[in-house]
Amino acid sequence: MKTKVRKIKLEEVKLTNKQKQSIKKHREEIKNIVRGKDDRALFIVGPCSAWREKATLEFARRLSKFQKQYDSIKFAMRVYTQKPRTTLGWKGLLLQPDPCKKTNLKAGVRRAQKLMSDIADLDLAIADEALFLPLTAYLQDFYSFAAIGARSSEDQEHRLFAGVANFPVGIKNSTDGDLDKLANSLLSASGESLWYAEGKIFESEGNDALFAVLRGGKRPNYFAGDVEYMAEQMQKLGLSSAVLVDTNHSNSNKNPDKQIKIINYLLQKRKKSKKLKSSLKGFMTEAFLEKGNQPIDCTGKIKEGLSITDPSSSWSDVEDMAQLIDKAW
Ligand code: PEP
Ligand code: MN
Repeated sequence: MKTKVRKIKLEEVKLTNKQKQSIKKHREEIKNIVRGKDDRALFIVGPCSAWREKATLEFARRLSKFQKQYDSIKFAMRVYTQKPRTTLGWKGLLLQPDPCKKTNLKAGVRRAQKLMSDIADLDLAIADEALFLPLTAYLQDFYSFAAIGARSSEDQEHRLFAGVANFPVGIKNSTDGDLDKLANSLLSASGESLWYAEGKIFESEGNDALFAVLRGGKRPNYFAGDVEYMAEQMQKLGLSSAVLVDTNHSNSNKNPDKQIKIINYLLQKRKKSKKLKSSLKGFMTEAFLEKGNQPIDCTGKIKEGLSITDPSSSWSDVEDMAQLIDKAW
């Protein structure tokens, strides 16, 4: 098959001064959570994939109100525009804004930027997976947190990107669940890094605001012993031991109702363990307006606010989770 090549000009990212200030503050607050200077729980919550924009923005509006309500939680919203796939499938808003049509980068970049801009106006911290890196460059100024996903965490380019990012980055364990490999990735991103994009070189001594994100693998790895093991490995390497638990994916076996149970389990364990108190920094959870998920049915109607990728918890679950975290933290 013949590959077609054509030139394309994508829209540069534009932020208002107010947005820049708000994002700078969020980045600093999350960095302080890594450093242990801010004791709040980091709760990164939102849909598996940011689609469609209207429902995603509605979730953001609700979550931004929570930020004022809960003193013990720092909220960031999953605004995931780039989706990795185990095999084939929809690639996310950034590449394929209409899941029933072909990829369209121009429209995807414009729509993802508009969505993030609207969410940044709510003074809410934004998290995305840094997956398709040359395109991530068009969004990263909006990020207060980026994840390196399970399928990218051993990749050299993604490690270098994490190393030069001037915002906090969470690196996930690979799909096999190996925490030693994750420790290697974290060490790599904490060291001297170099990144090139669009004629610019980014150089850094390394990222000092890194989280390990446990998302399960061949078996779940959200248990107290897993968090403690990860924290020890990070400490041995001279890194701040900052661990987040992803409550979905191979930890819940994609059963969204397991998510609140995992949070509750860890909150109880944290009460009794000094090590957990200092190293468990919070949770990453998949939730949207409605519980569950749906297939991408291009002949029928796709429901707003219900995930078209992984099954997610509902908004009312998020309310319960926030109360639970706030009470126990
Ligand atoms: C996700 O966060 O939706 C995701 C794809 O995660 P992972 O990289 O852990 O599979
Ligand atoms: Mn997911």
